[in-house]
Amino acid sequence: MPVISPNKPYRIGRSRTGLGLFATKPIKKGTKIIRYSGPLLDCNKEKDDAVENKYLFQITNRWTIDGSLRKNIARYINHSCKPNAESDVSKIKRRVDIRAIKDIAPGEEINYDYGTDYFKEYLKPIGCKCDACEKKRKKLRAAAREEKKRVGARAEKRAGAARNGKKLNGHKAAAAAPKKSEARTTATKGRRSKKRS
Ligand SMILES: [Zn+2]
Repeated sequence: MPVISPNKPYRIGRSRTGLGLFATKPIKKGTKIIRYSGPLLDCNKEKDDAVENKYLFQITNRWTIDGSLRKNIARYINHSCKPNAESDVSKIKRRVDIRAIKDIAPGEEINYDYGTDYFKEYLKPIGCKCDACEKKRKKLRAAAREEKKRVGARAEKRAGAARNGKKLNGHKAAAAAPKKSEARTTATKGRRSKKRS
């Protein structure tokens, strides 16, 4: 694990998806937390353009930061669809700083939105595990359970009515399985994977 100076307001720790970056001190909204650093890749150079990993941060059509080195502590920051930080991109300086967009309390995980392209390529296929998406999934599961209960109760009522020789108004007594709905999320701006040429 890379060494972090004790006067920094963060540490690397366990998160839901593996490792993550957590606040160790209060971080005020608007504060720069850390720079997303690494060698600059020039996509006009074939060698640079061939680099592929999950830590590429595209700044412009031409320049991308390769953040895969372990000393880039910012690479430990996980994605969230409802983040407490953002990536502040300076195209001119070719720099990316992660900045707090909310007051962050000690112990809180630091997150930013990786952006639509990253989301589509890496998160959508496996399902985003951020707090916001987990909460949404929980809600949907609870709603599905409720629906199942409701449908089950209705079917039981009908079965009872049928046993008593009452008319069913043409309804079938069998309960339909509740439809599974899918959690959907959208993300905006930020990290994206490099285009394959
Ligand atoms: Zn999410």
